[in-house]
Amino acid sequence: YPKNVGFIGLGVMGYPMAQNLAAKLPQSTRIYVFDVATQVMENLVKEYPGKITACQSSKEITSKCEVILTMVPEGAHVKSVFLAPDTGVLATDISGKIFIEMSTIDTATSEDVRGKVAAASPSALFYDAPVSGGSLGAQNATLTFMLGCSEEDPNWPLLKSLLGLVGKSIFPCGGPSLGLIAKLSNNYCSGLIAIATAEAMNIGMKSGMNPALLASIFATSTAQSTISDKWNPVPGVCPTAPASNGYRGGFKVQLMRKDFALAMDAAKRVNARLALGEAGLQTYTDASNDPACRDLDSRVVFRYLGGSEE
Ligand code: NAD
Repeated sequence: YPKNVGFIGLGVMGYPMAQNLAAKLPQSTRIYVFDVATQVMENLVKEYPGKITACQSSKEITSKCEVILTMVPEGAHVKSVFLAPDTGVLATDISGKIFIEMSTIDTATSEDVRGKVAAASPSALFYDAPVSGGSLGAQNATLTFMLGCSEEDPNWPLLKSLLGLVGKSIFPCGGPSLGLIAKLSNNYCSGLIAIATAEAMNIGMKSGMNPALLASIFATSTAQSTISDKWNPVPGVCPTAPASNGYRGGFKVQLMRKDFALAMDAAKRVNARLALGEAGLQTYTDASNDPACRDLDSRVVFRYLGGSEE
C-alpha cells in the first residue's frame, strides 16, 4: 500500500469509505482528508486520532499523498477539486501521483480533467472509478467498483487491493471512461426497472391483486429483478426496503435524475437510440420537483404515479 493516501469528499459515501480505509490500512499508512464541510472532516479526524489528518485544500492533499481518492457530488465539484486556481490538485506538482475519481459524473468532464492531469505531468494517472451499492455498501465495504482501465494496466494490482478495502467486486471495464459508462448504463437500466415495476404493481393492485402476492409471482416469473425483490417500490412488500420506511434512506430521487440525465448524454454521444429515455427522465425530473417525493428514495416513483400506499 502507498504510505500516504488522500481522500477528498466525505459525504454519505466518502465518510464511511474513509472510515473503512482507516480501519483496514496498515498503521504505517497515513490518511489525509479534505472536505469543504470542515465540521464533517473534524468529526472523522476525532474518530481516528493519529491515523487521519485533516488538510486545508485539495492541493495540500495532493502534495502529501501518492494516491488520491475523490468522491464529490457532480462534475462541477470534480472540476473545482482538480482545477481551482491556487487550491486545486493541479496547483501543485503531480508527478507520479495516482488519482482515483469515484464520483458519478459525465464522461466529458472526466475526460477533460484526465487530459489536464496528463498535460500537467505525463507520469500522473487519472482513473474513473464510480461505485454502486449505496450508503450501506459504503458502510459494509461491499461496494461494486467500475474502473476505467484494463486488467493489463500496471496499476491494476494496486487499484484492486486498495479498492478491495472498501468494496467487494472490482471490475476493470477495459479503458478510460468505461467505468463511468458501466455505472451510467447500470443506473439507466435500474431506473427504468423501478418505474416499470411501480407501474406494473399499480396495474395489479388497482385491479384487486394483493401486492405481496404479485411481487412473489414476479420473483418466479419474467418480471423478476433486484428492484422488485429487494427494493420493491410498494410500501410493505419488502420490509427492509426504503418504501416500507416512508421512502427514507436509499438512493435519492434527485441523484437518480442526475444519473439518468448523464446516461442519456452518454447515449447521445454515441447515437444509441433510446425508446424510453425521455419518458424516464421526465418522470424522475417531475418526481424530484414534487414536494411529496423530493429527497426520498428514487423508488418513490410509485407514490409519484399515484400508487396506493395503504
Ligand atoms: P454527498 O453530497 O453526501 O457528499 C459529497 C461531499 O463532497 C460533501 O461532503 C461535500 O461537502 C463534498 N464536496 C463538495 N465539493 C467539494 C470540493 N470542491 N472539495 C472538497 N469536498 C467537496 O454525496 P454522496 O452521496 O457521497 O455522493 C458522492 C458521489 O457518489 C456522487 O457522484 C453520487 O452520484 C455517487 N454515488 C452515490 C451513491 C449514494 O447512494 N449516495 C451511490 C453510488 C454513487
